[in-house]
Amino acid sequence: MSLLAIGTLAYDTVETVQEKREDQLGGSAVYFAVAAAPFARPRLVGVVGKDFERGDIARLESCGIDCAGVEVAEGATFRWGGRYEADWNTRVTTFTHLNVFESFDPKVPEHYRDSAFVFLANAHPEVQLKALLQVERPTFTLADTMNLWIDVARPALDELLRHVDGLILNDEEARMLTGERNLIRAAQQVLGLGPRYVILKKGEHGAFLMGGDAHFSLPAYPVTDVVDPTGAGDSFAGGFMGYLAERGSVAPDSLRAAMLYGTVTASFCVQGFSIEDLSRRGRRDVEERASDLKSIVTL
Ligand code: AMP
Repeated sequence: MSLLAIGTLAYDTVETVQEKREDQLGGSAVYFAVAAAPFARPRLVGVVGKDFERGDIARLESCGIDCAGVEVAEGATFRWGGRYEADWNTRVTTFTHLNVFESFDPKVPEHYRDSAFVFLANAHPEVQLKALLQVERPTFTLADTMNLWIDVARPALDELLRHVDGLILNDEEARMLTGERNLIRAAQQVLGLGPRYVILKKGEHGAFLMGGDAHFSLPAYPVTDVVDPTGAGDSFAGGFMGYLAERGSVAPDSLRAAMLYGTVTASFCVQGFSIEDLSRRGRRDVEERASDLKSIVTL
């Protein structure tokens, strides 16, 4: 079934203990779409500036992503910088230049409005809702958010949460959103805000899914050669939603399997800078690593 992603296309500057890379292709919707591409043909809605390389659009299209919803606006592309400490868990945002994303007014093209599965990547919740309301009758909608919006746009975020089926967030954001330190209780409280499902990401410790009819937890795939964790959360969401769209189901067993596939696509993402590793992976690579992960977690 069809899959739509709305969010940033970016040029990121990433610094790790080993290396610094400037202006490399990133953005939450980009990571999501590349991770989802082995399962479905993602439709992408976002905005870039006149400086966005044509070759990068071609690169996304060659991954099987439909870029007809990417608008080119006057100005510069969204830019973000991050620096990782040696333990990979601490990330400092060095800059965020919204540029053309600051006045992003999402326009979902007519032929995308029938999309069944929708991912609202990190953006102001009013922008996320504006995009969502243009989709006619989505089967399943998943939203991401961040501490900034919990802090400065809480009423808009609360309104968004009444319109989505799932929310994906990390442990720190869940605590901030609910004021609850225990993550299970925090997840239960998020369910009280509207979504039927919540996915909590705990970095290298994995992720868990909670909903009325599903409670499932998985460790991260044990990657020995982490290169750059940027985009891991969005790549998780891409594998998760891509699998659901491929299967055309949101039954509890599909959601559990989708958690496995999200874990796999996130693990490819961290093995390279930008989309270097992720974009090389096909359905067969995904399946191989999924069986490996299954064997690791099964008694
Ligand atoms: P993650 O590592 O999953 O948090 O995703 C990082 C990606 O999100 C990078 O490629 C950034 O370009 C993008 N990003 C960072 N900050 C924002 C923001 N405020 N809004 C939208 N996208 C962002």
